This record gives sequence, C-alpha cells and structure tokens, in this order.
Amino acid sequence: MRAGFHHFRYSPQAVKVATPKETAEDERRVALVPDTATKLIAAGVEVSLEAGAGAGAFVSDDAYEKAGVKLVKGAAALLKDADAVLKVQAPTAGEVELLRKGAVLISFLQPATQGDIVKALAKRGVTAFSLELVPRISRAQSMDALSSQASAAGYKAVLMAAGRLGKFFPMMMTAAGTVAPARVLVMGAGVAGLQAIATARRLGAVVSAYDVRTAVKEEVQSLGATFIELPLEAQEGEGGYAREQTEEFLHKQRELIGEHVAKSDVVITTAAIPGRRAPLLVTADMVKGMRPGSVIVDLAAETGGNVELTKAGEDVEAGGVIIIGTRNVPSTMPLHASQLLARNVANLLLHLVKDGAITLDFEDEITKGCCVTHGGEIVNERAKQSIGAAS
Ligand code: NAD
Repeated sequence: MRAGFHHFRYSPQAVKVATPKETAEDERRVALVPDTATKLIAAGVEVSLEAGAGAGAFVSDDAYEKAGVKLVKGAAALLKDADAVLKVQAPTAGEVELLRKGAVLISFLQPATQGDIVKALAKRGVTAFSLELVPRISRAQSMDALSSQASAAGYKAVLMAAGRLGKFFPMMMTAAGTVAPARVLVMGAGVAGLQAIATARRLGAVVSAYDVRTAVKEEVQSLGATFIELPLEAQEGEGGYAREQTEEFLHKQRELIGEHVAKSDVVITTAAIPGRRAPLLVTADMVKGMRPGSVIVDLAAETGGNVELTKAGEDVEAGGVIIIGTRNVPSTMPLHASQLLARNVANLLLHLVKDGAITLDFEDEITKGCCVTHGGEIVNERAKQSIGAAS
C-alpha cells in the first residue's frame, strides 16, 4: 500500500449503492434483499436495484420497492453514478466498463481464475473487494460469505444425493419389513461438510466423516457422526485451514479410506485447500468398489474435483454409481443463499461506511485483507500471487 493512502474518504453526500441483475449463466442469487436494503437505508445509504434482479431468488420488484429501494431499468443507467456496487459474481469485462471510476465493488471475484477481470477493475479505477478474501477472524464472521454459501451447499448436497439414491436415508420399520438406514460418508468436515453431516443425520442416515484436520473430530461427533481416524499425520495449516498435502500423503489416504468408500451408499466430498486445486480423494478404481446405485456428490467439482471421474456441471455414471458435479450449488437454493449472502455483503459495506460516507481504512485487517484493487492498482498480495500463479 502506498504511503499516504491509508485513509480514503469519499464525498459526504449520501452513499449511492446499486445492485445489478446477475448475468452469469445459472446464477439465481442476488446480492441485495429487501431486509438488507432496509438496514442500509437506516444507515443513511441510498439503495437502488436493477429491475428484475431478485426474480431468480423469488424476490419481486414490489418487495424491494416496499423496502424503499429505487428500481432502475438496465445496468448502464443503474451503475453510472453508483458509489458502491453489490454483486454476487465477478463482473464481466463489459460490466466493468459500466462502473464509474472510484466506485467500490463488493462481490465474489475469484482472483485465481479471474485475473483479467481483476486487472480490468484496477485499470478502471474501481476499488474492488473480494468476498473470498474476507479474513476468517471472529470480527468478520458476519461478512463471511464463503461460510454462508458453503452451508447452503453442504445442505443441498445431501438432498441431491437423497433424491438420486434408490434407498431410504432413515431406518424404516414397516409392515413389509425393516429397512436399514443409508450409510453416508462425508470427506472434508469444514463448513460445508459439517452442514452435510447435520443434514444427513436429520434424515436418519448413519454418517461417518473424515478430515485431515483432526481438530474437527469433536464437532463431527457432536453432530452424531463417527469420525474416521486414519494412521496419518494431521495436516493442519495456517488460520484453521488444511495445508496442501503431498501426493504421497494423498496416495496413502486413498488406500486407507477405500474400504469406507466401498461400504457407503452416499459419499459427499468437500475437501479444499484455499487457492489450490482440490485434492484427489476418490479414484476411478475406488468408485468401482462401490455398490451400483450409490451416489457421490462432489462439491469440489469446480476447483478440479475430489473425485477422479467428476465432470464439473454434469452427472456422470460409472458402473451404476452416479457422480454429481453440479456447479454453483448455493445458487440452486437461491432464496436463502441470497438472504445470507446479502447480509454478508451489507455487513461488509457497512464496515466501510463511517458517518454516512465510504471511508477506507487500509490499516484495518478486514478492509486491507479483502480489498483487491484500489487507486488503479492491484493492492492485495494474495490476489497478486494467485493471479501470478494462474498466468
Ligand atoms: P475449506 O472449504 O477450505 O475445506 C473444506 C475441508 O476440507 C476442510 O475442513 C479441510 O480440512 C478439508 N480437507 C482438505 N484436504 C483434505 C483431504 N485430503 N482429506 C479430507 N479433508 C480435507 O474449509 P472451510 O469449510 O472454509 O473451513 C476451514 C476451517 O476454517 C474450519 O475449521 C472452519 O471452522 C474455519 N472457519 C473459521 C471461520 C472464522 O473464524 N471466522 C470462518 C469460517 C471457517
């Protein structure tokens, strides 16, 4: 950060906040909901929205208007004088051109795969904040969109599996006999995995889980699942995350977890290392060992997949086993996913608003941590690294 740039205060007029309609294919979420609009308006912010932006999440223009939101037709008219823009997905190159110089943008940015967009935002003079880079500290929990969306994904993964499995999840005692409960294995017990465990338990399945961070053992057990302990060294890294594992470690892990995979009716994989390709946990051979009719949901599909056979955005069948690689799972639950995401986004925006004006304090861990572009430059070291690594 350049000296003298630590504090940035924008004009004292009411901050104008705008939310355009998402344009990415299959994106049904929206970054503003009527509740968060009310909260922003109460903080002295002027709130506008592109007409129809809530439709995918089942929120009508009417509901926004009742909350005091100004509806604008078309993104160009909406964005031309917006001080802050709230979005779900990173803008396209065309959308970047609609942002005014000096505007603040809050959205997912995926700096690792969207290097060109990040560069375009810098060039345009936009101050962009990436939701992925909000530090995982307790003060920022209310802004943690990765967690809120991971919860939605973990929940939905179980429902997708249950919808495809030719078995009941719970044990059933019927006049026609007793049915054994389904066996669910969750690999990766972070936010998504824990939500998947809780959901599968609520549906009555027998659940076991594995994670390379043994710190999650008690959380897994408190949800009524069995924590699988493998004779492997824990892979705890910085900030509560897993560290990147060696191929040798992953090879051993696959060998040891194989028998658990083979016994499962449903496997849900959620394993991730921040900023890296997802680790390979389930090989094609391991899938061969599963009973026909079993279902795998790979929540890491978009970052390379935890399962060798996964195809992002598709369902694959191999030897009677279905491997679900749905992209953007949170968007398939657009109402609640938007509600939670909009709260995260509004909290981050309000973090930047002091006395009715956008005030950027680059000494602040949250502001500094997730600001990616400012003053014409890419200012975030993590973003710079991931853009460098990808290009
Ligand atoms: P993530 O999405 O990066 O990864 C998902 C899970 O995969 C993690 O639990 C990770 O340990 C696991 N994993 C990685 N490699 C694996 C492998 N080879 N086999 C099995 N599992 C593997 O993680 P996340 O869900 O974002 O959360 C990570 C941690 O951060 C959790 O402990 C969570 O509680 C913590 N967290 C803290 C805060 C906060 O303090 N504000 C907020 C959110 C999450």
